[in-house]
Amino acid sequence: MASVRLENIHKSFPGVKALADINIAIESGEFFTLLGPSGCGKTTLLRTVAGFYQQDSGHVYVGDKLIDNQPAYARDTGMVFQNYAVFPHMTVFENVAFGLKTRKIGTAEIKERVARILEMARLSGLEQRTPDQLSGGQQQRVGLARAMVVEPQVLLMDEPLSNLDAKLRVEMREEIRDIQDKLGVTTIYVTHDQEEALVISDRIAVMNLGKVQQVATPWNIYKEPVNTFVASFVGNTNFLTGRIESRKGNSAVVAVGDSRITTPAGGNAPETIQIALRPEDLAIVTDSADGGEASLIPGTIEKSIFTGAQVRYTIACGKDLTLVVERHRPEREAIIPVGTEIMVHIPAGAPMSFHPETGERL
Ligand code: ADP
Ligand code: MG
Repeated sequence: MASVRLENIHKSFPGVKALADINIAIESGEFFTLLGPSGCGKTTLLRTVAGFYQQDSGHVYVGDKLIDNQPAYARDTGMVFQNYAVFPHMTVFENVAFGLKTRKIGTAEIKERVARILEMARLSGLEQRTPDQLSGGQQQRVGLARAMVVEPQVLLMDEPLSNLDAKLRVEMREEIRDIQDKLGVTTIYVTHDQEEALVISDRIAVMNLGKVQQVATPWNIYKEPVNTFVASFVGNTNFLTGRIESRKGNSAVVAVGDSRITTPAGGNAPETIQIALRPEDLAIVTDSADGGEASLIPGTIEKSIFTGAQVRYTIACGKDLTLVVERHRPEREAIIPVGTEIMVHIPAGAPMSFHPETGERL
């Protein structure tokens, strides 16, 4: 295992700037995820690390070694693909043993190493099957075992779960993380699924349009997004725009339609400001006695959606303001009927402020 350093990486395809000035330092043994919408450059970056693509400028280091000029086969990386890419005519054993054979490793050692990795990937007993006799999840485990058995310095995974059904995806992401923990291999994982990224990663780089927006732990990506792109891509968010009415210290009272919300705002905050509120940070109060430091906004329940673990209310709060509020573990009697007039309670600390044009956090 080794650290990976990406320095000032640029890469263009005809008419597309796929990667713009990528700078990322990944620690040895870290599970690092590239997260972003389709087309943002995740695969291009992963393939640049693997050596399948050559960057236009910038450098890739594994440990302290510059590997820009090493061909893909000489780089000490293992790749797991979205579409499994297992050899259809080979058995599970042969698939997993393949990389060891090409490295001229002895038969006894191959047997031992394949058995160990198949056990870890929960494939023991399936050695003699061919891929067409396996489920999608099992085929992907073969892909994973094949990449891991050679003990690469760096494991690269490009949306390895996206061809699996929802339930299996959730199971497999935990298995992948368990296996990675056991082997301690430095891992770069690609996904467009924000929940998957939050669950599986030590740290996440959120990408958009070929650029890294933020590199941080799952907690900080979610709780302290640096701009509106990250705030909207990861988790659900209410975005409101309003004008500052008054300022006091590092906060301001912002008028949004007929309502007033107190939000963080330093001296550099412009007159018009964008506010983000997470649905789960908001509460609904049916009697308005308890005001305190918090903002209370009157509204009417417009829609309620039951999703099992929670109820998601859409609340009309007068002119230009609709808020989505989530309540977890709802009780049947406590579900508020559509049309009910309520107050939305915005706790101090819930609002995040952003610049309306640049989208930067204020
Ligand atoms: P992601 O994996 O995040 O969906 P990609 O890295 O595949 O994104 O693509 C980034 C951008 O580069 C996209 O606009 C895509 O169309 C373009 N692109 C990717 N690979 C090629 C290629 N081989 N030739 C031309 N354009 C490409
Ligand atoms: Mg991709």
